[in-house]
Amino acid sequence: MAEQTVFEKIVAREIPAEIVLENDRIIAFSDIHPQAPMHVLVVPKTARYRDVVELAAGDPELLAEMVQMAQAIARERAAGDFRLVFNTGELAGQTVFHAHAHVLAGSLGEGSLA
Ligand code: ADP
Repeated sequence: MAEQTVFEKIVAREIPAEIVLENDRIIAFSDIHPQAPMHVLVVPKTARYRDVVELAAGDPELLAEMVQMAQAIARERAAGDFRLVFNTGELAGQTVFHAHAHVLAGSLGEGSLA
């Protein structure tokens, strides 16, 4: 069996995280290295999809639920508008090969995100 991803360990409560929201299929927690005033990761509990392309093909409904959760979090913890980033592939900076969305919000400098 493949080694567990860091996100599976968070789902299993084997490593700590600041959990923001959770349901039966998705967990959201604060990114350990925030890149914006609000930086939350929205992660499917299943590790079967290594990136958003596989997720979109395999379970588009789950992807749609993640987008809805991102909006709910941005409304709750920031002004409501948000950026959704899916690093896809090593050359694009993906380091954890367990599909996840970066939800970034909050102004930096001139009112837009860096
Ligand atoms: P990148 O590392 O370039 O952002 P990814 O898109 O794969 O690549 O994102 C992985 C994200 O997971 C990173 O933003 C990283 O800070 C975050 N991360 C890694 N380990 C943890 C952890 N234990 N708790 C919270 N966030 C984590």
